[in-house]
Amino acid sequence: MTTIDRDPKRHHRPGGFQNNYGEFTPRSLAEVLRWRWDASRKNLPPAPSTPIPQVAPDLAFLRANAAAGAAMRPTVTWVGHATVLVQLGGLSLLTDPIFSERASPLAFAGPKRHQPPGIAPSELPRIDVVLASHNHYDHLDEASVRALCAQTGGPPVFVVPLGVGRWLAERGVRTAVELDWWDEHRIAGVDIALVPAQHWSGRGLKDRMKTLWGGFAVFAPDCHLFFAGDTGYSRDFVDIRERFAERQSAAAGGGFDVALLPIGAYEPRWFMANQHVNVDEAMKIHRDLQAKRSLGVHWGTFELTDEALDEPPKALARVRAAHGVADDDFFVLAVGETRKLPRRR
Ligand code: ZN
Ligand code: ZN
Repeated sequence: MTTIDRDPKRHHRPGGFQNNYGEFTPRSLAEVLRWRWDASRKNLPPAPSTPIPQVAPDLAFLRANAAAGAAMRPTVTWVGHATVLVQLGGLSLLTDPIFSERASPLAFAGPKRHQPPGIAPSELPRIDVVLASHNHYDHLDEASVRALCAQTGGPPVFVVPLGVGRWLAERGVRTAVELDWWDEHRIAGVDIALVPAQHWSGRGLKDRMKTLWGGFAVFAPDCHLFFAGDTGYSRDFVDIRERFAERQSAAAGGGFDVALLPIGAYEPRWFMANQHVNVDEAMKIHRDLQAKRSLGVHWGTFELTDEALDEPPKALARVRAAHGVADDDFFVLAVGETRKLPRRR
């Protein structure tokens, strides 16, 4: 019996939300200071020794594909960090959009981006749906939300976890749909489910755990996509596989066609393990989900933690080799690069 069967609302607590497995206690100021002190003493993170690959986006293809309707080819394009342009089921979706120079409440301080976004907001095809996994600054960026709301043809639908809709409403966004874990919302024949993740939320010191966090499972006839958001490793991914097993039986085309999984921001482990997976754990999630292929994201863009910006794909190559996983089954893209996916059916 899974936790979900026992009590589907156990993540709702009097003071806020909580994870299914492993209670998350926000780090104390002393722990934050210990981490920062250790990092400065050891000169971490090291500077990247290889450039983060970046290519010019194929905008003509992406726009034509956006307008192709039923003939759309499923695609994923890495814009940077956890921002991915996804095309499936006739829709263009954007995960955790951040185009800003910094992932921070301040314009002059906080983690600065290492390279421009792979596609500027003004170059995007019209975005139908934004999937926002949680309210941390590197995943929910106010300037990016405003830019998307100003796009030609009107604002996208923002599908968000419980509580994040209020933040959007306070900024004049009237197209938000809030979901609890396992809730689903259908847009133009595409089902979008919010699923659990092992993480936390908060934009300041007083709102920790007050809004929900999560990942997304997206089911279109031509592609089943999983987006983890930010997460530590937990049993949640086995639960997710079991939950959708019938919908993803072999006869129905099998498991997720593509999973967008975080592979960066994991050092030091004593501080990060209960909120961010390392590459080994990302591989465990890839296997737990029985994803046909995974794209590694949440790396190479903002220096958030102690590993070098270019380390995650190097670690991924080692982990793939150790598990006998083919390069194309768990891959990374250059910033701006598109991967065309086979149609599910
Ligand atoms: Zn986060
Ligand atoms: Zn993050």
